[in-house]
Amino acid sequence: MPLTIIGVDADDTLWHTETVFRLTHKRFNELLGDFADEDTLEAKLAAVERENMKSYGYGAKGFTLSMLQTALEISDGQVSTKVIRELLDAGREMMTHPIEPLPGVEDALLQLKQRGRLVLITKGDLFHQESKLAASGLGSHFSGVEIVSEKTPEIYVKAFARHGGAVGSSLMTGNSVKSDILPMLAAGGYAALVPYPLVWEHERAEKPVGNPKYREVETLGHLTEWLDEIG
Ligand SMILES: [Mg+2]
Repeated sequence: MPLTIIGVDADDTLWHTETVFRLTHKRFNELLGDFADEDTLEAKLAAVERENMKSYGYGAKGFTLSMLQTALEISDGQVSTKVIRELLDAGREMMTHPIEPLPGVEDALLQLKQRGRLVLITKGDLFHQESKLAASGLGSHFSGVEIVSEKTPEIYVKAFARHGGAVGSSLMTGNSVKSDILPMLAAGGYAALVPYPLVWEHERAEKPVGNPKYREVETLGHLTEWLDEIG
């Protein structure tokens, strides 16, 4: 059965994102080093971020607000305005960081689009995700773009339907087991994991090894082999 739509994740699938976040974490830990050790800072920031995600959703802007809140709370209000300013700068740099496709991604998309319509499906901030796609130069390979607030089975069903495909004859590929793989399988579709060396704290999950509609592939380019098998 040939696939109708191939959904492709963006962050850490098409371009680096977690690397940029890790650098910002490092800067955060250095700036707040007078108030707590690195482990304490990381734990507090993760807790604040998890709570704030309910109001801010995903993305660099929400993360910046979480850094500011953590700085104020962990220093008991003693953090200097200089540090606050540096955290704001760090947040802005995440928004304007140059976007370069991961090695081999452009060739892989050329191969993939011969096997199904490509739809970019990413969660996060609308403005930032659109800017990154434009900056990447990869936009023309996609016949559609879906920027969603969360990746759930219901959202996958709707997203694929909006682009004229049934989820059962579609595939989702990306680097996150929690967001790109498990909800897509739950919706009845195919899912291919393309691992990225760093996994965001809030995206950790067990791989569904043994599920016939799931594969892990080394790179996006390797996905064509499995697509040809399915097709
Ligand atoms: Mg991703």
